[in-house]
Amino acid sequence: MKKSLWGKTKEGVDVQLFTLTSGEIEVRLTDFGAHLVSVRTPDRKGKVADVVLGFDSLEPYVKGANGYQGAVVGRFANRIAKGQFTIDGTFYQIPVNNGPNALHGGPVGFDRAVWKAEEVANGVEFAHVSPDGDMGFPGTLTAKVRYTLAGTTLRLDYSATTDKATVLNLTNHSYFNLRGDDDGDILGHVVELSADRYTPAGSGQIPTGEIATVAGTPLDFRTPQVVGARINDDFEQLTMARGYDHNFVVSGAAGTLRRAARVSEPERGRTLTVETTEPGVQFYSGNFLNGTVTGRYGKKYEPRMGLCLETQVFPDAPNHGNFPNSVLRPGETFKSTTVFTFGVE
Ligand code: BGC
Repeated sequence: MKKSLWGKTKEGVDVQLFTLTSGEIEVRLTDFGAHLVSVRTPDRKGKVADVVLGFDSLEPYVKGANGYQGAVVGRFANRIAKGQFTIDGTFYQIPVNNGPNALHGGPVGFDRAVWKAEEVANGVEFAHVSPDGDMGFPGTLTAKVRYTLAGTTLRLDYSATTDKATVLNLTNHSYFNLRGDDDGDILGHVVELSADRYTPAGSGQIPTGEIATVAGTPLDFRTPQVVGARINDDFEQLTMARGYDHNFVVSGAAGTLRRAARVSEPERGRTLTVETTEPGVQFYSGNFLNGTVTGRYGKKYEPRMGLCLETQVFPDAPNHGNFPNSVLRPGETFKSTTVFTFGVE
């Protein structure tokens, strides 16, 4: 592992860049927001490119680039309706930052913090202590994410403890583009999701609470499907979200590592599999990338330049009794694993 000083935050705190190499792929990480900055992998012909959207310098991360590229988001990934929830009869209000709702932990989420980095075998572990009342969330929460690289497999192990009951949803918000992040959009990517069901959303992309079948809808990815084939279908769930931006219920038992998704890109031949212990995965087709930020190679990140597979508990879980539990209590240790495996075919 190589470590170098990358820059400073607005407050003057040092930020490091870490480089992991396995021989086959090279991964870059930073302690600012525990971001995954870069994943360089070969295509079918051996040509190496970066398969996640990101930036060459710290500046766009510190500025808060549009889209959470590569960030670890928390304390609660995705949306909480009106930023409101109740635990054991106590009401909490998170500041809203996405219309009337809270998104990715509120205006100053975990993606904005400098995490404490520690070198571990084949990787780096980042730790962040979020104080009691941080963004309105109860309890001092200690969150950790350990990135390790072995061969072509990048593994993320999350853990967390709290001193008061709180809600928690941690994910990594990488945008993948298996053509390479300077080489067009993701509409030709082929996606397969291990999900028979999804959680439909209503106004403001808040789940209605329903858990619906994907059968007969353009959200059926149980067999491999080209992303662009149905993305513009006249189907309310798609038109409301401007494309794919939905939580899929990963088949098999939550808590066990099982496949959530497989992605392939026919022209360059790269593949990605995503395994997780989480109950859900947000398949997001980058609909709200707005071209205001310039990525590597001077290329603007426009809509659908990358796709996210954010492993998670379900959005707005604190407000839906029928969704998986998102409450962490004192004495418990939250544990979650997501594995990204890169390949070619
Ligand atoms: C959400 C999108 C949101 C995006 C922000 C995703 O996790 O599902 O609705 O626009 O994050 O980058």
